[in-house]
Amino acid sequence: MRLHPDIERAYKVLDGEELSEAEALTLTGISGCDILDLVSLANKVRDKFAPEIVPCSIINAKSGVCSQNCKFCAQSGFHSTGIETYELLEPEKIIAGARAVYNQGVRTYGIVTSGLGYEETDPEFLRILECMDALKKEFPDLHICVSLGILTENAARLLAEHGAYRYNMNLQTNPERYAELISDTHSIVKKIQTIRSLQKYGVTICCGGIFGLGENWNDRIKMAQACRDLNVDGIPLNVLLPIPGTPLEKRPIMEPSEVAKAFAIFRLMNPAKMIKFAAGRETAMKDFQGLLMLGGMNSMITGGYLTTRGRSVEEDRVFLAHLALFTDHAKH
Ligand code: SF4
Repeated sequence: MRLHPDIERAYKVLDGEELSEAEALTLTGISGCDILDLVSLANKVRDKFAPEIVPCSIINAKSGVCSQNCKFCAQSGFHSTGIETYELLEPEKIIAGARAVYNQGVRTYGIVTSGLGYEETDPEFLRILECMDALKKEFPDLHICVSLGILTENAARLLAEHGAYRYNMNLQTNPERYAELISDTHSIVKKIQTIRSLQKYGVTICCGGIFGLGENWNDRIKMAQACRDLNVDGIPLNVLLPIPGTPLEKRPIMEPSEVAKAFAIFRLMNPAKMIKFAAGRETAMKDFQGLLMLGGMNSMITGGYLTTRGRSVEEDRVFLAHLALFTDHAKH
């Protein structure tokens, strides 16, 4: 059987040509058996342009009571979600978290805090810098990632000076609809400014978003395009886990076929980037997690998320070993 003409056209990505926003939007109409052809193309593109599979782990270093009203977030002080809340963890706890995953082979470790962000003089921010220094000393080959919200330019510079390898700052959705779909207590413009400041000081950027908030396909394509325009290095994609107590608690969980299609299109629009499945992998994909890796993802958060549990590092290691056999790189 022949390929769907829109997929056949998208094969140009394998030859190094760019998929336009309009072409990507056309692919969102693919359905049924054709989704597997789209996934297959995304797998070939990933295998050619982003063959390395990079798992990472994170620690929720400060939880909850956030002053912002992000609709999806269990940690917002606007919502009653009943999660465990705590102030910034002691450095020993953050370092112990790194030690645990380092000993299981993970080399990318992210420190994540709830809250709007930091200025360079904030005592909490200075404690995080000290903690990064200690991590660098104990694990010189560990990639330290940080996700601390909106930063001043000086704070961005200090993070670079203290060895931040990557910074996570998610657009979450179509930037043009951020206030409507995500939050109206802060502006997407400040987030983009933070990304630009960090890039200026050489920190690589992890920037993606969430599917299943009530956005449409056009919003998803706009987010993929915004990631491309910002030239981010990694794109973490989450699938909404509707959390009781948040305004999105009644949202349906996305179908695995729709998630697979979204990941595949993100891969075709960003062929060489690290595309990471962050939260929602186990819940949304159920028995189809492998489909996503075959559909373009080349990174994942392993060992649990911010406020929800995930698969263990060991379970994911076995999973990745099986998946490697579906790539041409495994043949060599
Ligand atoms: S700023 Fe961060 S921690 Fe606060 S509500 Fe938004 S996503 Fe949650």
